[in-house]
Amino acid sequence: MTKNNATVVLADQPRDDTIGEYRVLGRPLGKGGMATVYKVEDAEGNVFAIKELFPELGRQKEFIRRFRREFELAAGLNHPGLVRHYRLFEDNLTWNLVLEYVEGLDCKALLRKLGPLAPDEAVALTCEVLDALAYLHRQKLVHRDIKPSNVLLTPEGRVKLSDFGVARPTAGGDLTRADAVIGTPVYMAPELFGGHAGPPSPSADIYACGVFLHELLTRRNPFGVGSKDDLVTTIAKITTTAPRRVASANEELNDILKKALAAEPAERFSNAGEMREALETLLPPSSIPRRLLALLYARVGKEKPTKKKTVPKEPLGLRPADLVGLGFLFAVVGLVLSAFFIKVP
Ligand code: ADP
Repeated sequence: MTKNNATVVLADQPRDDTIGEYRVLGRPLGKGGMATVYKVEDAEGNVFAIKELFPELGRQKEFIRRFRREFELAAGLNHPGLVRHYRLFEDNLTWNLVLEYVEGLDCKALLRKLGPLAPDEAVALTCEVLDALAYLHRQKLVHRDIKPSNVLLTPEGRVKLSDFGVARPTAGGDLTRADAVIGTPVYMAPELFGGHAGPPSPSADIYACGVFLHELLTRRNPFGVGSKDDLVTTIAKITTTAPRRVASANEELNDILKKALAAEPAERFSNAGEMREALETLLPPSSIPRRLLALLYARVGKEKPTKKKTVPKEPLGLRPADLVGLGFLFAVVGLVLSAFFIKVP
């Protein structure tokens, strides 16, 4: 926002102004825990996304430190599966990250529109996430916040991981005790609760990928955590319950989920590549994940959200309730007719 029009901007309203030298294009693309994301363009017409730290947080040193940290960690990364981070700047007391603009939608929105995904689609998506994670882990970084809203899907079927706000180096680094429990509880591995203060491990990202895959397949949490559960209940369920079987998935896929979601880090896949290999064997031989995902994206425009469970129709176009009704009708007619014939000699 320029200094002359520094008014209070309601987060969901379209903005017809600038952030630094960038012109804001329309409504916000989304809003996270710390920032609002806008589509913008520079003077040459190049399009970017700008993540603007909430103004009220931009006055707190801790949040500015985290934002700067997010930029420093992500700026050096270069992988097609990770959103590029270009610059960090302050403008009129707001802190902004300039990002690669990803045309498409995040997986949370995708699930909202399509309902649970078919196993092939969910597996293909997770394979791409694991590719990006394998690269990240090789750079000695962990993402620590893998979840549907942080996985963006492009119309070409590319997957891009965003939000490195809580990413950390696997060793070294200035990990504080408070940092150790940062993340989104339902995606956090059990070892991250209870004062675990060691360096974060890639194994926790594998676990989060297990929760992510389960959600893609069912739209539900593997441990039965619901949106109304508070933090204490959530932690209790995650740490004491076994993951639920996924009805739409075969035995192999259920076994992979079980292994990724093991409570003991040592029992999980030892790295992202290993989990990807296991999943890849489940894809149909001729399918290339990217093509499958482009088809998945194309479905978004065609299907309406599944609000009510519709009862599948029988081959004749009759529902089970219709058949019961018809049976009842035939029985009554039969009774009337037989009474009539019995009376008439
Ligand atoms: P959260 O804190 O909810 O994980 P972010 O603050 O990173 O998420 O982003 C909020 C939303 O903005 C995302 O869910 C996504 O829909 C959108 N978004 C984030 N980054 C980009 C980008 N680089 N390009 C396009 N949309 C994005």
